[in-house]
Amino acid sequence: MTTFEYAPALESRSIVTIDSEYGHFINGSFTKGKNHFPTLDPSSEEILSQIALGGADDVDAAVDAARIAYQSVWSKMSGRDRGKYLYRIARIMQERAREFAVLETLDNGKPIRESRDVDVPLAAAHFFYHAGWADKLDYAALGKAPHPHGVAGQIIPWNFPLLMLSWKIAPALAAGNTVVLKPAETTSLTALLFAQVCQQAELPAGVVNIVTGNGQTGATLVNHPGIDKIAFTGSTEVGKAIARAIAPTSIKATLELGGKAANIVFDDAPIDECVEGIVNGIFFNQGHVCCAGSRLLLQENIADEVLAKLKVRMAKIRVGNPLDKNTDLGAINSREQLNKIQELSTVGDAEGAERWSPECTLPGTGYWFPPTIFTGVTQAHRIAQEEIFGPVLSVLTFRTPAEAIEKANNTPYGLSAGVWSEKGSRILWASQKLKAGVIWANTFNKFDPASPFGGYKESGWGREGGRHGLTGYLKSADEGVKKGGENE
Ligand code: ADP
Repeated sequence: MTTFEYAPALESRSIVTIDSEYGHFINGSFTKGKNHFPTLDPSSEEILSQIALGGADDVDAAVDAARIAYQSVWSKMSGRDRGKYLYRIARIMQERAREFAVLETLDNGKPIRESRDVDVPLAAAHFFYHAGWADKLDYAALGKAPHPHGVAGQIIPWNFPLLMLSWKIAPALAAGNTVVLKPAETTSLTALLFAQVCQQAELPAGVVNIVTGNGQTGATLVNHPGIDKIAFTGSTEVGKAIARAIAPTSIKATLELGGKAANIVFDDAPIDECVEGIVNGIFFNQGHVCCAGSRLLLQENIADEVLAKLKVRMAKIRVGNPLDKNTDLGAINSREQLNKIQELSTVGDAEGAERWSPECTLPGTGYWFPPTIFTGVTQAHRIAQEEIFGPVLSVLTFRTPAEAIEKANNTPYGLSAGVWSEKGSRILWASQKLKAGVIWANTFNKFDPASPFGGYKESGWGREGGRHGLTGYLKSADEGVKKGGENE
């Protein structure tokens, strides 16, 4: 059979300007920053810039700025006017979409096809969606005139840097809160570009503050007495530490944590569509997705057929330069994450599961891992229980629908799940039995700002997106008023 090779189709990086060093964004301007650490392009290990390591004084300054902006401007402004700022931000993000996409791909390692077609458009969509809510908060089902918490401390991970920023900042601002956001240490650049967008939109100073840094910076923010609300996305381990830190306080928290989603394929499912869904479920964003379909549950009588087709499809996944528009699978975000994926995969080998990857040549520099499946996995295996957060799929089988549900729910997590079947009744039955916050039917990894997202059990607290997400940033009119009565 004739095969066609793709010629490289590189996206130019000339659209982005990266400074050699960045400070924090506090009270509407960039500070100088004292200590710095490098941020890399994980596909080449090139140092892109030096990022400021936020200390207690930077967090103090940012929280103070957010408090003053909250009291003097943002909580006094009408919802309609707040909405205008959000619309303005959304439109500027669209205008600068290519810049955001290239910068995200450089700093994160994800394929440009995904940053361009998923991350950036969805980030802008979150601002548009929440702009629409800003003057309609009376209809958020919290009674008349709900009010904001005050200053929100927000901590985000590195897998969807700009998108997670928008999931956090857009609802917070729409509800009338001001924010101090800390991006992940390996991916601060698009948050700093977003700070420029805030300046361009003439957002009042102090409404959005961005302090860069590491886990210690995050912990300082969480423990700051000036914070009224915490929103965190990241590992379950850090989520638990945050829950412990705020337990003696009245601070409200939204926690989006880990996952080990089951993607369940029944024997009446359309196999070819299903194979696409499996690939999208685990290899999208290199599997750096908390809701990734990382456990494939196949009904035993179709397992061989699905696996054969899956292997053919996986052999077509193009791994390589993230700036190439043909690339399907980009770089692993950091050396640390690559080590974790390698370690858990070695555990999979030792536990007796069978590893398979298509033949593919990985680039010589940077952090890379091939698309991989493990078959013969049992529920006791660590690779069936622990989040690998990489392009690694654990395959299990089942005989009856009841067994599928039992296996799917046998995890400490409960973030998402997928069900593949031609029967609507079976899909409804399964989605009622599955303990997962989001369940996709005959598709996977679909996101929309209007749709609430969040987990059960160790996958977290609360929801983000939709009306449910908005309520995480609001209190009903009769809920306690804190810190000097500024909510009255
Ligand atoms: P991952 O393991 O995926 O990197 P983490 O939960 O460690 O996820 O990191 C997610 C975000 O939480 C990052 O911005 C990180 O800097 C921050 N972080 C890490 N440790 C803490 C902590 N103890 N308190 C608050 N934030 C933290």
